[in-house]
Amino acid sequence: MDFDSLTENYFKKEMRVKVIGRYYPSEAGQCLRKSYYSFINPKEIDLELTKIFEAGNIVHDFVSKVFKSDKNPDVEVLESETSFEIPVDDFVISGRIDNLVLFKGEEKKVLVEVKSTKSVDYLDGPQESHIMQLQLYLHARKMQEGVLVYVEKNTLKSKTFPVTYNPSIYEVIINRFKKLHEHLKSSSTPDPESRLLEDKKWMCRYCNYKTECFQETPEVGLTKFF
Ligand code: SF4
Repeated sequence: MDFDSLTENYFKKEMRVKVIGRYYPSEAGQCLRKSYYSFINPKEIDLELTKIFEAGNIVHDFVSKVFKSDKNPDVEVLESETSFEIPVDDFVISGRIDNLVLFKGEEKKVLVEVKSTKSVDYLDGPQESHIMQLQLYLHARKMQEGVLVYVEKNTLKSKTFPVTYNPSIYEVIINRFKKLHEHLKSSSTPDPESRLLEDKKWMCRYCNYKTECFQETPEVGLTKFF
């Protein structure tokens, strides 16, 4: 039996074509140009990446089970996988909240966003793109408090970081979506954002549009693959 090929069949799916005017929270902290390309030139997600996403889903399910367990009576899951939409001008941001949890002792409701990761050892704060995602969720639910839970895939070790709703960050996020929307409507490619910003250059390493990006603008920021 070749289980790898069975897995490959299992993951075979239609390519998701994105529609201009409907955006997703995971795009908030992504390179603007990469988001743009993903609309005008959708690509099948690489099988290895799909497997990594599936491992992430398994971690999500695990965290939900921990919250729902009778052995944790001080925690109650009020909602899981709830969809939401934020209308902005002539477009909409749509997403899904992982868990809305009530900590009974403190009578506190918290939005929980789970992220799987290779290692939590050197994690000393949440990723900016994850904070942006959670800010959108908090805004959509008119809530103040959230938490990002990072869980190590191999060991289930975790680290958690509280995130408080910040209207200024929310504004920044909305303006990013407005910019993306304008570029898509006018068919004008945004600047190669991640190549231009020191703290975002790492994103180019994992970008599946780097060939197109470097062809279109060879001379900006990083000028070659690494
Ligand atoms: S290669 Fe870098 S700058 Fe270009 S689209 Fe990808 S992430 Fe953005």
